[in-house]
This record gives sequence, structure tokens and C-alpha cells, in this order.
Amino acid sequence: MVVLENVNKHFGDLHVLKDINLTIHTGEVVVVIGPSGSGKSTLCRTINRLETIDSGTITVDGKQLPEEGKALAALRSDVGMVFQSFNLFAHKSVHDNVTLGPIKVRKIDKDKAAARATELLERVGIASQADKLPAHLSGGQQQRVAIARSLAMDPKVMLFDEPTSALDPEMINEVLDVMTALAKDGMTMVVVTHEMGFARRAADRVVFMADGQIVEENTPDEFFSNPQSARAQDFLSKIL
Ligand code: ADP
Ligand code: MG
Repeated sequence: MVVLENVNKHFGDLHVLKDINLTIHTGEVVVVIGPSGSGKSTLCRTINRLETIDSGTITVDGKQLPEEGKALAALRSDVGMVFQSFNLFAHKSVHDNVTLGPIKVRKIDKDKAAARATELLERVGIASQADKLPAHLSGGQQQRVAIARSLAMDPKVMLFDEPTSALDPEMINEVLDVMTALAKDGMTMVVVTHEMGFARRAADRVVFMADGQIVEENTPDEFFSNPQSARAQDFLSKIL
């Protein structure tokens, strides 16, 4: 579904992504972990072209990332992204947050978009809040709306960049539960997270990044019980 080949990215003199090769298969859940500054967010952002790359290729569902214009907009809607900050439209209701993209970008009929929004809000357990403004919801609820909004575009892959890092501890699980259900339903997902319980439970594969490189990748069981590299051993010793 997503293939990165020899991807390099610099910010000025800083080599942030160093020859990244990564293939994410349809239905696979890949959890990306690693120290702060290792390039995890940049990796996510290159996959939907929020960042350009200096060399290499990225394909999503067999199509190489277009430079700009309509083709890029279409590609972006194939790749859903959920960030640490929820980025909801503050002056729109929860329901309208979910219908807006499909109506404006996907040109979906209003009634159809509304029915689908109701279904998605039910799926993330928040249908009863549909008429509220985002500010009247808790952080965990807002993040679930952000997930529903992404899903409304029928993405082929969903990227999550530390989706629970801004949440109070008691709200983390309600968001992880929605993500776990999504994973079980077969969504192709790339998840940057420090939630190792989620990684163990939901990941097919853990990718460990450090200094702009993929240092190690393995099944969660193997990775957590038997990390191969000194960098991964050191990282795990600090967080577990
Ligand atoms: P992570 O998500 O793993 O913490 P990032 O991908 O955010 O890492 O950042 C990788 C490196 O690139 C860091 O050193 C960061 O400071 C730098 N960086 C990220 N975004 C930019 C930017 N827009 N301009 C300059 N440097 C950046
Ligand atoms: Mg980051």
C-alpha cells in the first residue's frame, strides 16, 4: 500500500531521513517508535506530502506522489492523518467537521455524507455529541472526532502521529481502543506512539527509528523481548 525507497530528506544541513526503505502492506499496522528528533513525524509527513523529499520515491497504492495540484489533493485524501493536536474546525459542529471534507473534496451528496458521518461518529462512540462544537468536548472525544473525520474520506491508509500525546492520562485508552478496533477491521495504519501497550496489542510490526534511520524492525514480541541494536536496547531501557 505504501512503499518508500531510498528516501532522503534534509532540513538545511540536517539530514533528517537517511535512505529510508519501508514497505507497508495492505491491512498492516506498523508502529513507529524512537527517540525525540529521530524523524518519525517527518516520515509521516512525507507520506502525504506535507513535506517534500530530496531523493528517493514514495508510492501509495502503486501511484507515485504527485508534485502538486488536483492529483496531490486526491492523493492526500487517500492518506488520512491524525495529529497530536486535533485540528478540528472550531466553528463547526462535530457532525459538520465530519461531513465537510467528503462534501467539498470528494463531492459526495449532502445526505449521503450526513448518514456516513452519523455511522462514523457511532463507530468512535461519540454520536450523542454530534451537534456540539469541538471546544465543548473533552480532548479524548475531540481526537475521536478527528479520527472519524479522517475516516469519512475513505482513506486507503491512516497515519497517526502521537495521537494520544496531548491527552490527559484517563483519556488515552478511549482513543487507543478506537484505533485498536480500526486495526482489527483491517485498516492499513502507520502509528507513531510511545504507547507500548498499544504496540504490543495492535502492531503487526514495530519500526525503530534513531537519527533519521530505520535501525531495526520486527514483530512486537521479538522487538520488545529481544531488541538487537544497542540504540533500541537503550531506548527501551528508558521507557519500559
Ligand atoms: P520526531 O517526530 O521523531 O521527534 P521530527 O521528524 O519531528 O522527529 O524531527 C526530526 C528532526 O528534524 C529534528 O531534529 C527536528 O528538529 C528537525 N525538524 C523537523 N521539522 C523541521 C522543520 N520544518 N525545519 C527544520 N528542522 C526541522
Ligand atoms: Mg514527532
